[in-house]
Formats: sequence, structure tokens, C-alpha cells
Amino acid sequence: MNSRKTALVTGSSRGIGAAIAKRLAKDGFNVAVNCSSENSAKDRGSLVVKECKNFGVQAECFVADVSKYDQCSNMVDSIIKKFDSIDVLVNNAGIIRDSLLIRMSEENFDLVTQINYKSVFNMTKLVGKLMMKQKSGRIVNVSSVAGISGNIGQFNYSASKAGIIGMTKTAAKELGLRGILVNAVAPGCIETDMTDGLSEDLKEKIKAQISIKRLGNPSEVAGVVSFLCGPDSSYINGQVIVVDGCLAI
Ligand code: NAP
Repeated sequence: MNSRKTALVTGSSRGIGAAIAKRLAKDGFNVAVNCSSENSAKDRGSLVVKECKNFGVQAECFVADVSKYDQCSNMVDSIIKKFDSIDVLVNNAGIIRDSLLIRMSEENFDLVTQINYKSVFNMTKLVGKLMMKQKSGRIVNVSSVAGISGNIGQFNYSASKAGIIGMTKTAAKELGLRGILVNAVAPGCIETDMTDGLSEDLKEKIKAQISIKRLGNPSEVAGVVSFLCGPDSSYINGQVIVVDGCLAI
């Protein structure tokens, strides 16, 4: 039997997910890292695993495309085999395929909603069932300010992130009865591969709208997720915590 609790962070080979995985390792969780391909696992996932292990916990990278229910199910089985339980689930995996609505392809609408949104159904159903048997657990969903305020060029993305807020509130009501807390974080503009492609000009315009005049770091989101997975948030359920340096009010 493993004496440590286990956290599964989807999409944790890089960016915000990697920061969350490392922070939860620092907090003492064994960590299941996840990414979408073997190449990513070899390349970046293995590095995150190594960095988690530096905190003295166990960690392993599991490859699964979280938009596919069967792959999620196989991943959950493998994690249980390795770690015995999943006590924390962070639904973080996400992508963007931005363009104005009238130019957006059906393919890019479907791809973004499947990976960002359907994945949360897949993982919450599978892991929620296990947590119900355990009568405990924490789930944190990574939404976005785009899901609260909308954003030009992100019809698909903002739909997926708004949907995550609805799923968070419903899951909080259904699973709260069984001792499972479900909350969301809604980051603003955070420096990762996802925002790397923005032009310097656009980054400056975004910074100008943020009261503290800078983009966020992945570790600043990870700190809030850590709080939502820890003992000090035991009376918080169904909430969305905005982490955006005051961009969205
Ligand atoms: P990122 O640097 O692009 O990393 C995305 C992560 O998701 C990678 O680990 C990637 O794994 C994984 N992923 C993508 N598709 C997947 C799939 N089908 N199955 C499993 N894993 C998959 O992005 P990020 O900026 O850290 O974003 C993380 C989350 O925060 C996303 O949900 C994003 O929408 C949200 N967010 C980001 C920002 C921001 O400004 N950066 C703001 C608000 C919300 P691979 O290595 O295999 O591709």
C-alpha cells in the first residue's frame, strides 16, 4: 500500500500542468503526469517526472489522449495499478485553435471542444466513481477568463472553458454529498507555449489591460491549485477562482 496520496494532472508535460504537477509533488503527493503522445512523454513528460521525484515522491508519465474515453479509462486503470488510488484530479489538458467565428472550421470547433471539454466529462466520470467509493477527493478544473468574459477569436475555446464552469458546479453538487470537492481556476494570460505564439504587440496590449501590468507565471496558477487540493480549502466547493492579475473585472 502507498501511504502517500496520489494526484493525476492531465496535460502536465509542460506549461501550467507541469507547474501544478511539480507543486503537488512538493506538497507530498505521488504524481501521475499525463500527455498526449509517446514522443511528448519521452521528451518533456520524463523531465517533469524527474523533477517531481526530486521532492521524494513517486511519479510516472501516462500517455493518453484525454478526449478519448477508452484511453482515459486505460490510463486510470494503469494509475490505480501503480499507485492504488487517485485522491486529486486536475483537469488541465487544453489546446487553442483560434480564428474569427466566420472563418472557424467545424474541425477546429470539434477538436478544441473534445480536448478541452469532453475530456473533463471523461476524467471526472471515471475518477469521480473511484473517489465516491473512497468517500473523499479533490477535483480542480482549469477553465479560463475566456470562459467567463468571452474573447475575440476564441469561439471554440471560450465555449469549452464556459462549459467547464457548468460541469464544475454540477459535479460539486453531485459529488459534494460524497465528500468530494470540485472547484475551478480561471487563469488570465499565463506565459507558456500556448501564449508564446502571441505577437509582442498583442502581449503589450494585454499587459496594458492587466492592473499589475505583466503576464502570469505557471507557478502562480499552481499555487492556487495546491490550495484547492489542500486542507485549508475544506469548505470551498463549486467555486471558480480567477487568477489573472485583474484582467477580467
Ligand atoms: P500548453 O503549454 O500548450 O500545454 C498543454 C498541455 O496539454 C501539454 O502538456 C499537452 O501535452 C497537453 N495536451 C494537449 N492535448 C492533449 C490531449 N489530447 N490529451 C492529453 N494531453 C493533452 O498549455 P498551457 O498554457 O499550460 O495550458 C494548460 C491549461 O490552462 C489549458 O487547459 C489552457 O486552456 C488553460 N489556460 C491557459 C492559459 C494561458 O494563458 N496559458 C490561460 C487560461 C487557461 P502534449 O505535450 O502531449 O501536447
